[in-house]
Amino acid sequence: MSPVERQQWDVIVVGAGGAGLRAAIEARQQGARTAVICKSLFGKAHTVMAEGGIAASMANANPHDDWKTHFRDTMRGGKFLNQWRMAELHAQEAPERVWELETWGALFDRTADGRISQRNFGGHEYPRLAHVGDRTGLELLRTLQQKVVGLQQEDHRETGDHEARLKVFQEFTVTRILKDGEGRVAGVFCYERESGRFLVLEAPAVVLATGGIGKSFKVTSNSWEYTGDGHALALLAGAPLVNMEFVQFHPTGMVWPPSVKGILVTESVRGDGGVLRNSEGKRFMFDYVPDVFKEKYAESEEEGDRWYEDPENNRRPPELLPRDEVARAINAEVKEGRGSPHGGVFLDVSTRMPAETIRRRLPSMYHQFKELADVDITAEAMEVGPTCHYVMGGVAVDSETAATVGVPGLFAAGEVAGGMHGSNRLGGNSLSDLLVFGRRAGLHAAEYAMSGAGGGVAEDDVAAARAEALAPFRDGAAENPYTLHQELQQTMNDLVGIIRREGEMAEALERIAALRERAGRISVEGHRQFNPGWHLALDLRNMLLVSECVARAALERTESRGGHTREDRPSMERSWRPVNLLCRLTDGEGGMGAGIGAGIGAGIGGGIALERVRTEPIRPDLLALFDKEELAKYLAEEELDA
Ligand code: FAD
Repeated sequence: MSPVERQQWDVIVVGAGGAGLRAAIEARQQGARTAVICKSLFGKAHTVMAEGGIAASMANANPHDDWKTHFRDTMRGGKFLNQWRMAELHAQEAPERVWELETWGALFDRTADGRISQRNFGGHEYPRLAHVGDRTGLELLRTLQQKVVGLQQEDHRETGDHEARLKVFQEFTVTRILKDGEGRVAGVFCYERESGRFLVLEAPAVVLATGGIGKSFKVTSNSWEYTGDGHALALLAGAPLVNMEFVQFHPTGMVWPPSVKGILVTESVRGDGGVLRNSEGKRFMFDYVPDVFKEKYAESEEEGDRWYEDPENNRRPPELLPRDEVARAINAEVKEGRGSPHGGVFLDVSTRMPAETIRRRLPSMYHQFKELADVDITAEAMEVGPTCHYVMGGVAVDSETAATVGVPGLFAAGEVAGGMHGSNRLGGNSLSDLLVFGRRAGLHAAEYAMSGAGGGVAEDDVAAARAEALAPFRDGAAENPYTLHQELQQTMNDLVGIIRREGEMAEALERIAALRERAGRISVEGHRQFNPGWHLALDLRNMLLVSECVARAALERTESRGGHTREDRPSMERSWRPVNLLCRLTDGEGGMGAGIGAGIGAGIGGGIALERVRTEPIRPDLLALFDKEELAKYLAEEELDA
């Protein structure tokens, strides 16, 4: 067996989406030699799918906007479970990150007087989303990619080598974080998708920026990359995940035809005036405004419609409530028998805007429906329903530095990191999160790496990681990764989906345990050159771990809050406000050692243990930004008295 090739870097960034590239740029600018690894092609990360925009209180469309209002909206959207310091930093730094992006070449849509245009989105008090039509993520990623190439050109001029200080390893998948003898990060183990060759990149600092988990659910807006790898890599390395019960179901995914079920219909359709109707033609959202939001939303269609022209003197329409509220309302309408022919509801822009405006403001949506469903959205309504979209839970991180808990040298940013969005993310707050915390992760990872921390990778650990990766090529055993994946997706969709019940979640845990056991007998055919069955077998380890975290935490949290709705515990309980749920792998070391060679399933050793942790009290000056009556709806008794 020939030794696995090794390379030395200062910082390794796993993921080349918005968070990963922003982290890599920062680390390189701090002087750290930085390697970026991504599963797909450079420039193809999930971030390109982001449509609506980047939330930042630049106050271009409404002069009253400021970071405090953005902070308030974010906390309300997250039902006050947000890691408040992250929400504060995010609101304060987002405008700077957007302007910076513009100086790097991003071409945003403009206001009539030439400033960056900002659009309305659910839960945001003012028009706040900087955008590029409905293709904002593509422009964000293109700009960051261009910046990476610019830095590589600088390096070439100085050293004669484009990749001397910043190199992208595209179509490589990381399967393990490697540590030194003292439990500090020492590198990663990965394989090249095309050739199947293994590679060890050694570095004292690793930034996880791997995105979300949607591919564990059957109906999802997420891309094939969203198999929860970073979440699982952190767990396996010994770092906890926080609040994994909070999964966002976006209210408007396509419901028809079946081949495209789940694909997103951007919220900007509603932000720009689109309305939701049931089969009786009723704008039903007026019946679903919860008490905590009553003061801020219109009570009649007339008032809601006037708001688009005159937001100062009218309240916003309830179609723009936070996503969890709208998703639940659609679910309820369908359940009551008032759904559309294919099991959704109607989202209509055709009667609200001229055809030409629709084509100009929503070009991707126009083409998406025309090409995939043969529906002309300028002439008829779309059929939409909830789809698994985003995970608020994630790797527990320090708010300032993005450092994980308990694993020196491991950082996380973007969708893989938890805390920022509390129990529910507002639209547009992810792209700004990627930029704000991607930069912070890159900065602190570089500082840490260059402080001289970290030791080397032991050959035994490389051999163990190699054996684990090759385990699915076992003979004789007969479990098929595609079958297991389908069963997992069905389980998560049916039993831990948008509406949850105690018995069903307990059943999900039993099924996941059985799937994990069967995963230990997965067998794939063929060889290591581009072998999707093998890749899926390796991804399944991650999806099974993450799904167990979601189900376990969802069963533990006996209330409904944000993205976590329990039919058997329908109300938000103030006593749960200061409680975070941490998930850890019980054997801590993630099975590195004895059982690892036995392969997927067997290799992950113990199960997931949950720990209740009290959140840090919200700083008084931040609490002072809210009315006392409002706080009384959210905070626990003892927090109000403090
Ligand atoms: P990603 O962009 O997904 O990047 C993850 C990277 O990690 C990829 O490069 C991937 O290849 C790599 N990776 C994963 N696992 C591994 C591994 N094991 N080894 C190596 N590499 C790995 N948010 C907004 O704020 N505004 C919007 O308008 C908006 N619209 C959206 C529309 C859609 C259809 C969807 C699905 C989401 C939308 N979101 C939006 C959410 C937002 O796009 C994502 O949350 C965000 O892009 C995630 O970025 P990221 O950098 O964390 O991860």
